[in-house]
Amino acid sequence: MRFLDYFSGDKPVISFEIYPPQTPRGMRALKTRVVPNLLKLNPSYMTVTYGAGGSTRAKTLEIASLIQNEFGLTAACHLTCVGSSRTDIDGILQAIRATDIRNIVALRGDPPRGEDAFVPPRDGFAHGNELVAHIRSIEPKEDAFGLAVAGYPEKHLEAPDFETDIANLKRKVESGGDIVITQLFYTNDHFFRFVDRVRAANITAPIVPGLMPILSAGQIQRIASLCGAEIPAALQDQLNRATEDDAVQVGIDQCIAQATELLGQGAPGIHFYVLNRSTHMRPIIKALPSI
Ligand code: FAD
Repeated sequence: MRFLDYFSGDKPVISFEIYPPQTPRGMRALKTRVVPNLLKLNPSYMTVTYGAGGSTRAKTLEIASLIQNEFGLTAACHLTCVGSSRTDIDGILQAIRATDIRNIVALRGDPPRGEDAFVPPRDGFAHGNELVAHIRSIEPKEDAFGLAVAGYPEKHLEAPDFETDIANLKRKVESGGDIVITQLFYTNDHFFRFVDRVRAANITAPIVPGLMPILSAGQIQRIASLCGAEIPAALQDQLNRATEDDAVQVGIDQCIAQATELLGQGAPGIHFYVLNRSTHMRPIIKALPSI
């Protein structure tokens, strides 16, 4: 199935995003424990990230293929433009196709560590819309990929204003993006305003909010500052006062409240950034209405 196929019913579409671990031990744990436990929560599909500079290319495909071909759940590979020429990208697309995976989260990627700005690789792509257009231009029409693109409820950090960012999102969708998955956020109002802006720009693709349950105060500060997500003062306060164990529960409660409101207000599903853990996801998924 392709991404869009999941969004034709009334049931919220729940998906999980995982990343390729760096160590063989982490890889073993992911395959034998994390993925099987996440599958018990009945997601519609899972996506596997692509490390900076393509560093995890082979593992991304290995994990996605395991999920799809051995566990039988639809999997998507993330793919970025970082460090890859068109020829490289074509090779990766061929490898993805050969594993029967037919869904890709197509991204520009961030500048490599230590570099301030994204520099397009030689004979590569400068933006997400170019990658999407390229995939569409070379794939067989009768066996096309499902393509997800990234959206930013609080604006992409490099974008000068919302209007420009939404115009750029529109290019990605018009180039062939089927669904939009958002960057993580902790204030639902940002998402609701983003949806209004996107719809005002006549973008009709499903917009799936991306949520990252908080596991600790330090983790969330680090990640939020990297992507520019606002942490509400009351939540930050609660986390500052919590012990390490309590912080996980604060994160679970916060995520349940956030997801419940989003689904109640018509979000078509939730994409959870699960950080390769499953235990905190169980109470969250079990608490959601109509799952
Ligand atoms: P773009 O759409 O190219 O946007 C980047 C910036 O350029 C924005 O400011 C935009 O407004 C502007 N822009 C876009 N198009 C144009 C244009 N044609 N002309 C001028 N300006 C333009 N990173 C990874 O490395 N690996 C991953 O696996 C990964 N997965 C992600 C999954 C999701 C759901 C999300 C939301 C992000 C993910 N990222 C990942 C992070 C992502 O790579 C970064 O946010 C990156 O900085 C932007 O990627 P993009 O595809 O949105 O880029």
